[in-house]
Amino acid sequence: MAEGHAVRAMYFYAGAADLYLETGEAKILSTLETIWDNTVQKRTYITGGLGALPVIEGFGRDYELPNRSYTETCAAIGSFFFSWRLLRATGEAKYADQMERALYNAILSGVSLDMKHYFYGNPLASDGGHERRDWFVVACCPPNLARLLASLERYLYGQSRDALWVHQYIGGQARFERPEGKVLLLVESGFPWQGKARVQVKPDSPMTFSLLLRAPGWAQGAEVKLNGRAAPERIVPGSYVRLQREWHSGDVVELAFGMKPRPLQSPPEVKSNRGRAAVLNGPLVYCLEDKDNPGLDVHRLRFNREPDFMVSYNPDLLEGLATVSGRTAEGKRFIAIPYYAWCNRGRANMEVWIKQE
Ligand SMILES: [Zn+2]
Repeated sequence: MAEGHAVRAMYFYAGAADLYLETGEAKILSTLETIWDNTVQKRTYITGGLGALPVIEGFGRDYELPNRSYTETCAAIGSFFFSWRLLRATGEAKYADQMERALYNAILSGVSLDMKHYFYGNPLASDGGHERRDWFVVACCPPNLARLLASLERYLYGQSRDALWVHQYIGGQARFERPEGKVLLLVESGFPWQGKARVQVKPDSPMTFSLLLRAPGWAQGAEVKLNGRAAPERIVPGSYVRLQREWHSGDVVELAFGMKPRPLQSPPEVKSNRGRAAVLNGPLVYCLEDKDNPGLDVHRLRFNREPDFMVSYNPDLLEGLATVSGRTAEGKRFIAIPYYAWCNRGRANMEVWIKQE
């Protein structure tokens, strides 16, 4: 299991995964898979953040996940690198799912919306004592974020002998060299506000290969259309859909993944979250900030048993985002914003895990 300093642990495992990718030594891979499973299931927050304890900047015991946590930005970035290597080694969608979770939540919260202020720690609850700073004496997190965001395109696609892979739905173009010629993929995406994406396939000349597209683990139902018609392939969220055919320039794949706000209970072993739930919507984890909830105490309010969630897109709020509103036990409305956007209006009381009736 993962021990000690969280950032160093993630870099060490990423290095060990590189060694496996070079040597193919099976024992290295099986050990890393065990460490990854344990870390993600028992020592990682719902945001993809990890390294709970500030004293050692590192891991606590299994399920020791206090919400006033440390969770350094670099540790989430390190876990993204570790997951990426295991994704390349195995092709299993759970690694891409975890990269997505870390990217949209624990990593993105590390930088302000104006991209000029940074968090070192990314706690899941705050009493107003946190604020992003413009620099640090030990400034590892700001350049690490810059490096990741500037090289993000490396982590979105993959290529294997008979297949092209789309791991993340982030709009852009990708060019692949195959033995038969070049292929261009044009991706348009509604993520993270809508679970929709459109992939245009443009091979130089008709070409046979598989296109593997990730159906995210959070998807509540999924549809894939090929040139306007439902694809016959079975779609299982948390795996890749494989479309194998002779591709012609201009073929279009449309993906629609069911996305509704959902409350999620944490494992009962996490003491601080007993009787609490987090609000998730697609890849995003939400939080409550007092700025959006005047008259409510975000640390104490309770969800109604049927919170009656509603999503609305607000182009003018925090550079444009979708809020999720719901009902408290007393019938008042509360508003949740994506976790990455918290603390962009000055210091704030904030809570991810909300009490539930
Ligand atoms: Zn750092």
